[in-house]
Amino acid sequence: MQSVEFHAAPIEAVFPQSCGRVVNFRAGEVTMAPDTPDAVPGNGQYHFLTRVQPHRDRLTLIIEWPQRNTTDLQGFYYPGNRNFAEVLPQICFLSGDLRKWRRIEDAHGTPRGVRLELEPCDEPVYVGVGLPYAAERLVELLDFLRARDEDCAVRPIGFSRKGRALHGILYPPERPERCRGLFVVQAYQHHSEWAGLYALDALARGLADGSVDRGDFAWALIPCLNVDALAGGWREDLMYTATGEEDKCGNFNRDWLAFGYPEVQAAARFYREAAAGRPLLHALDFHMGWHSPESSGGALSVFVEGTVAAEAAERERAFAQRFFECVPIESYAWPVTRPDRPNFASWVWREFGALAQTVEVSRFMAFDAQRQACPISRPYFESLGPLAAQALRAFHED
Ligand SMILES: [Zn+2]
Repeated sequence: MQSVEFHAAPIEAVFPQSCGRVVNFRAGEVTMAPDTPDAVPGNGQYHFLTRVQPHRDRLTLIIEWPQRNTTDLQGFYYPGNRNFAEVLPQICFLSGDLRKWRRIEDAHGTPRGVRLELEPCDEPVYVGVGLPYAAERLVELLDFLRARDEDCAVRPIGFSRKGRALHGILYPPERPERCRGLFVVQAYQHHSEWAGLYALDALARGLADGSVDRGDFAWALIPCLNVDALAGGWREDLMYTATGEEDKCGNFNRDWLAFGYPEVQAAARFYREAAAGRPLLHALDFHMGWHSPESSGGALSVFVEGTVAAEAAERERAFAQRFFECVPIESYAWPVTRPDRPNFASWVWREFGALAQTVEVSRFMAFDAQRQACPISRPYFESLGPLAAQALRAFHED
């Protein structure tokens, strides 16, 4: 009797955070593409994630990226940016459990994307572009912090549009007698900007276990503002699904004037309460930049010249300098903030009269201790949170 071999791609592409569809399969070689809507251009597409089933032979996985760089889709129109396909060979990772990621070194650029050579394996493995932060890690982080209620207070602050709980963390849990003021740090307004989640994960744990010095300051953290996108992937992120009727803008960081989204409302309430009766000194908002002709996407935002009083602008520039000394990202002070803009940094300025800056972390370039460019990694992203806290403390203690 003749044995029958099935020739199906060893890919399991359906799970909440997945982002990949099979385009083509022939023996030993699968071609895939991100499965976001066709309107998402290649210079606005930053992620891909799939699960590869056990396979007995080496497998070639080709990832083809969207080729066009213009779009009608609101929130993705940045025609001056470079197509992300160019950097894919640097940032493809492999994981057995969505926690530990290993960079795939056998990765080669193709005209439309990247070709990866995968070794045989007898357990399923995940292949990702970038370093996805598993939703379960956030649950573990909050559990870790709840067990340290003498050091911090984990507060439910509201619910997402899809009904998921949002959390803020306050250090110390009770109002101390001595407090020089409040620092605010938040992350993940935008889907796939994982660096901030790793940075705040490490910062939140460090402030709780004492490995990060709090100084005489209070700290208010929201590690993840966009819990729907973290849990549900792009299919539950507003940027991809905004209807224009039900949704106001599709982008949390354009909602700090209108407050149309419950996530933004909850965060604003939490920060107002945390800052009551003490000065909010400084806020940082972690994002990830794009692949631009000018930079790696790493930057710290500052006010556009002439939009605030000279004294405040100088102070902000001085902080930027201190920040770049402490935190190994590209030292680009990006003049983009205006007091009247609908983003978080501008809201903090309007509401509290305090400096607030967007930290843009590169999606493909990290820096080692000698400030040499090197591949991104989880430890690199994690290091940014405690180092940013060090910059805040050092600047405001002076
Ligand atoms: Zn962002």
